Amino acid sequence: MTRLSEKKKKELAAAALEVRKRAYAPFSGHAVGAALLAEDGSVFTGCNIENSAYSPTICAERAAFAKAVSEGFRKFMAIAVAGGFEEVPEGYCAPCGVCRQVMAEFCGKDFIILLVRTPEDRREYTLEEIFPLAFRIEETEGRPSGKEAP
Ligand SMILES: [Zn+2]
Repeated sequence: MTRLSEKKKKELAAAALEVRKRAYAPFSGHAVGAALLAEDGSVFTGCNIENSAYSPTICAERAAFAKAVSEGFRKFMAIAVAGGFEEVPEGYCAPCGVCRQVMAEFCGKDFIILLVRTPEDRREYTLEEIFPLAFRIEETEGRPSGKEAP
């Protein structure tokens, strides 16, 4: 089990709340921020970016993963997610199914998901808890993982 200090969890939660202010959500009004912690301590943030055609919309979590992976990072420890309609989120915003599948691509079962209302008010889960029986191609018999490619 990956261990994260209380200080690091607070920092990650605060980063998710901060980047949430940049959310582009004119259609739903549901602003989301995410802060992804790479294994080396780097933090990549993302916000949701909606689109008038709807389906090109990208979630905050996937925006953060896209930034990290495109910078060469593939190993992650945790992600903090904050979302809602209000200035201070009234509830805990859980990642959608698509984002959970993206997490399963790069993260182990002990990857930590922090659902954040404030830096101190959080709920903590593992990827295994929120996405059991994830599709992982390396666990599919007789198929190459594809992860050996550079
Ligand atoms: Zn999502």
